[in-house]
Amino acid sequence: MHPAVASYQRDHPRRTLLRFGPYVLLQTLGEGEFGKVKLGVHTDYGEEVAVKLIKRGNLDTELRMSKVTREINVLKDVKHPNIVRLFDVIETDKYIGIILEFANGGELFDHILAHRYLKEDAASKLFAQLISGVHYLHSKNIVHRDLKLENLLLDKGRNVIITDFGFANTFETPQDDLMTTSCGSPCYAAPELVITDGTYVGTAVDIWSCGVILYAMLSGYLPFDDDPANPDGDNINLLYKYILNTTLQFPSHISDSAQDLLLRMLVPEPTERATLREVMAHPWLAAHS
Ligand code: ATP
Ligand code: MG
Repeated sequence: MHPAVASYQRDHPRRTLLRFGPYVLLQTLGEGEFGKVKLGVHTDYGEEVAVKLIKRGNLDTELRMSKVTREINVLKDVKHPNIVRLFDVIETDKYIGIILEFANGGELFDHILAHRYLKEDAASKLFAQLISGVHYLHSKNIVHRDLKLENLLLDKGRNVIITDFGFANTFETPQDDLMTTSCGSPCYAAPELVITDGTYVGTAVDIWSCGVILYAMLSGYLPFDDDPANPDGDNINLLYKYILNTTLQFPSHISDSAQDLLLRMLVPEPTERATLREVMAHPWLAAHS
């Protein structure tokens, strides 16, 4: 018997094992918007996978349906060491199961919290992997639009795995990279996501989010998360005003070079924000690019 199955049965002796296609479903890895994500073990090969279960009953609107289809279509189109691999999609009467590479190092979020914040050499290795994955996506005309710590997982070699393509979108040509759907999590969202005409450059939005992620890696907290007038950061208009009126502060242990990179990425005006090419060429990343 596979060790993961054996230990699950030891922990839950009275539970019958659930099967899903050729997989046995074990413990819950996380909660998704449409259902749970569970560890799966292939009954013949013992391969461990993550099974993102989507309850068909939760796909009650066109929008929610399209979110899932979009996620599956984007995943089918990508292959990169820092992007979660799609192995299969299994449909049953009640569920759509997205069978994914199992990222067994957990969420980057927890990894950072466990260390309070990351040392710069560790952070620059992980950040270079994130940028490599995002660069690959953009080169395929895909923007992620929901980059945040909770959507970055670690594999067993402690490498970054980008997941959760529910907000991802494609654009036809680089010139055509203007988007209109608003998306993502407020604390990671670029300020132009709320500009009046509602169009924005998708690639620049991902770069903003990467800047927020880098700030969080190096400090252990989010850069624009402490507005007393907007404690949960969930009023996006207030958050936008706060970002425009706040000069970015850094904990003193962050190096000048890292601060310089952050100040190039967290630029509210998207046309003045660093491009991915500039980020990759920045000296702070020199050791890893
Ligand atoms: P949300 O909208 O809340 O972000 P979601 O429906 O988009 O959720 P995911 O973010 O893809 O769902 O997955 C939810 C959680 O399940 C993740 O935060 C993570 O903890 C876990 N998880 C997802 N995919 C994997 C994977 N491939 N390997 C390990 N854990 C995973
Ligand atoms: Mg998620």
